[in-house]
Amino acid sequence: MLEIKNLHVKLEEEEKQILKGVDLMIEAGKVHAIMGPNGSGKSTLSYVLSGRGGYEVTEGSATMEGVDLLELEPEERAAAGLFLAFQYPVEIPGVGNMTFLRTAVNAQRKARGQEEMSAAEFLKVVRERAKSLKIDADMLKRPVNVGFSGGEKKRNEILQMAMLEPKMCILDETDSGLDVDAMKLVADGVNALRDIGRGFLVITHYQRLLDHIQPDVVHIMADGRIVKSGGPELALEVEHNGYADILSEVA
Ligand code: ADP
Ligand code: MG
Ligand code: MG
Repeated sequence: MLEIKNLHVKLEEEEKQILKGVDLMIEAGKVHAIMGPNGSGKSTLSYVLSGRGGYEVTEGSATMEGVDLLELEPEERAAAGLFLAFQYPVEIPGVGNMTFLRTAVNAQRKARGQEEMSAAEFLKVVRERAKSLKIDADMLKRPVNVGFSGGEKKRNEILQMAMLEPKMCILDETDSGLDVDAMKLVADGVNALRDIGRGFLVITHYQRLLDHIQPDVVHIMADGRIVKSGGPELALEVEHNGYADILSEVA
């Protein structure tokens, strides 16, 4: 589903190299987690994959189902089925949440050659999926993320993901700032979307989210590279010993 080879990324404005050769292959149906210390390049990886500006790829490749992602505009990547749930969800004053969702869903359906969802059908589906994330009708009417609490913003990201039904979902620290109940809602939302045709990359600083979203593979990122990969037990090792042991082991 997603194949990243030897990806090197620097800041456009400065000489600072952030990603220094990332290799990662995520098969359809699998959940991969990336853990790692702050500043190791996890968010940069998700930004570069989704097409945010300000970064320059100096070497390597990133493809989704064999399509070169790096050649596509951000909206083309989304239309192709890539979704990023932001670490810091953006507020969009003046744009109603429901309007935003419906516009995004229909733009994506159009790009895929599918018919628009009728207003009635959309309303039914969005209400159902919002309910399971404990997002009330009022939050659907308000401007996107404006005045939402941290937890509400993160749940709203998962609602967007549920509505867009992407092929490849990237979640960047969606657990940060969530209490246990909100984290369970987010995890349930993700688990409900697990599917043989869909890949997940779950970026998290802490292990606790991975108690609820069982990953198939866990990677440790440090200083712009994936330095170690393993099964779910790797996340527990980090939980118990921190990153220091692993980092000194691979150094
Ligand atoms: P993580 O998500 O693992 O905490 P980031 O990808 O946010 O790491 O950051 C990796 C490194 O790149 C950090 O040292 C960070 O300060 C730097 N960095 C990322 N984006 C920028 C930027 N736009 N301007 C300056 N430094 C940046
Ligand atoms: Mg960080
Ligand atoms: Mg980050």
